[in-house]
Amino acid sequence: MQEITPAKPGQDDDGKIYAADFKDYYHSKLNAEAESRYVFLQGNRLPERWMGRENFVIAELGFGTGLNFFVTWQEWQKNNQNSVCLHYIAIEKHPFQAEDLRVFIEQWPELLPYADELLEQYPPLLAGMHRLELAGGRIALTLCFMDVSTALDEIVAQVDCWYLDGFAPAANPDMWSEQLMLKLAALSQSGATLATFTAAGVVRRNLQAAGFTVMKRKGFGRKREMLTAVFNAAQVKTLQPWFSLPGRISGTNTVNSEAGQRHAVVIGGGIAGCQTARALAERGWRVSLAERHAKLAQEASGNRAGVISPKMTAEPGWGEWFYRQAFLFAHRQLRRLKREYDDLDWSPCGALQLNHNERESSRWQALAMRNLPDAFIQLLDAEQAGAVAGVPLPFGGSYFPAGGWLSPQSLCDVLVRHKNIEVLTGTAVSEISRDNQQWRVSCEGAETLTADVVVIANGRDVVRFAGEAMLPFTPVRGQTSSAAVTPVTVGLKVTLGHEGYLTPAVGGRHIFGATFERDSPDASLSAQSDQQNRQQLALHLPELAEQFGQVESSHAAIRMTTPDRFPYVGCIPDVDYYLSAYADLRHGKLQQFYPEAAYIPGLYIMAGFGSRGLTTSGLCAALLAALIGGEPLPFGKSLYYQLHPSRFLIRRIRQNR
Ligand code: SAM
Repeated sequence: MQEITPAKPGQDDDGKIYAADFKDYYHSKLNAEAESRYVFLQGNRLPERWMGRENFVIAELGFGTGLNFFVTWQEWQKNNQNSVCLHYIAIEKHPFQAEDLRVFIEQWPELLPYADELLEQYPPLLAGMHRLELAGGRIALTLCFMDVSTALDEIVAQVDCWYLDGFAPAANPDMWSEQLMLKLAALSQSGATLATFTAAGVVRRNLQAAGFTVMKRKGFGRKREMLTAVFNAAQVKTLQPWFSLPGRISGTNTVNSEAGQRHAVVIGGGIAGCQTARALAERGWRVSLAERHAKLAQEASGNRAGVISPKMTAEPGWGEWFYRQAFLFAHRQLRRLKREYDDLDWSPCGALQLNHNERESSRWQALAMRNLPDAFIQLLDAEQAGAVAGVPLPFGGSYFPAGGWLSPQSLCDVLVRHKNIEVLTGTAVSEISRDNQQWRVSCEGAETLTADVVVIANGRDVVRFAGEAMLPFTPVRGQTSSAAVTPVTVGLKVTLGHEGYLTPAVGGRHIFGATFERDSPDASLSAQSDQQNRQQLALHLPELAEQFGQVESSHAAIRMTTPDRFPYVGCIPDVDYYLSAYADLRHGKLQQFYPEAAYIPGLYIMAGFGSRGLTTSGLCAALLAALIGGEPLPFGKSLYYQLHPSRFLIRRIRQNR
């Protein structure tokens, strides 16, 4: 996927904005807002079509200034009986800078509050899928900053309604081709509608060829005609069958009514479990969170402070995409939580990854060639890095202004403060079984719980409940150490990353480490690990390390890492079914001849976050909740596959092992 070239809007003598590269205007010169209402809302029979629905999915080709989105949001605010969850997926190859977008929307003061709420969360202009939660979580905006063709290949959703708003077909044929319309068809629900300002013959023909029934309608203003369409043809399946979506568990959006509320049990009260509980609770689920310890966040999430930072690679690949999207989501989520819960122990102080060795220096050089936005990453030399850090530094590095440190325990405490979440600490789950379409969750010394859905999020013990599913894990022991702040180190303002990390003073102490010890199942504190942390710090940051007096243990835990370092997020496969249904994979039988996957109904996993769960678990919880509720996924197809719990099972079948 290519990085972004932002929009370069120009303005004519009448103040109307156009794109010089496409030689076209963004809107009707007559009245942009009225055009938006007429063409896209009325053309799609909105708001009538979303009334009475739990979830409604609109997808727009060409987000531009966001005008169509703000007009839709305003209409949704007036006419949704407070029940519809609106998913708005917007594709844009050349997004606007935030300032330009706001200046444009200032023409409509009644739309400004929506624009301001969006801009508060507007991502840096970085290619990828950005999930924003607006209107108190009732509107999910997925901004796909990428070319339309890639976006339509990546989006996983069942779309109810399309806004086709590319520049005119003659100026921008790529947005209207038959191939593109086939991709729209593959993402359309039966009965999906579509509207566009153009009536060009080529658009009508391409839509028809893709299975849409096309109608002409009077165009806006001086335009003679425009097109609307309905999709009633059979949908082509585009997901790999072994990664197909689970059946939707409906009745989820009961935020305002207790009746029919679905119940989920989440096993494990670390970050993965608390994020899952919150994501489901915000979608109206009643959640019981079972944690065997007396308090939340005691094991892998028990560190005093962890770092929030993405992981960049010299060449962009799925690993980097995963981390950067999750990182930006985490930052937005933390800002939202901090507004609500002032006691969240989070410092968005910035994170600096140092060029402490050859590999980091060449990565830094490769990143510097990629023209990434400053709001996301700044590539600093040693002097600049020292100025940002507040202490002299021997190396330059990659600075992430939205990074920082966070207390995992504080995050967990805040996440579970929701009326739909019941926290059951001191509750060890001993067994789960399926009985009459429900899960029975037996707990030691406590009442058995029944649930529609069970999410296994108990770190090192997941295999106990995930049965035979092939979920390889490597346990890795990680210990962090701490030392009292000194007159010199008090100046440190950002987190520093080398092989490990060092935080600024957190409650009078710096946290540093962590060790990375394979084959070491013992999580008790060790003086040797503290020594290792101290040596590592002395090796990379000797001037800071020599300041520290006595080093003490901070925390030790066993973290579960996976062979490919991606967590497992999603449904648990029915292994026997996979072994027989996909046995021919090793003979190269083509994808279209296989049946869809079968999963253990209502059983999900959220695990394998290694030492990066603080950064990645929020977006992964949104993915899990989307899979459970049948919503559009917040990740593209490639990353959905990459996180799928069946991936190693399928690999084994292919290799005939
Ligand atoms: N709906 C927008 C609004 O409410 O302001 C106006 C959209 S404007 C007519 C067309 C948009 O399509 C532009 O923002 C342009 O950058 C975008 N675009 C053009 N070619 C594209 C492509 N290949 N992939 C994705 N977006 C593209």
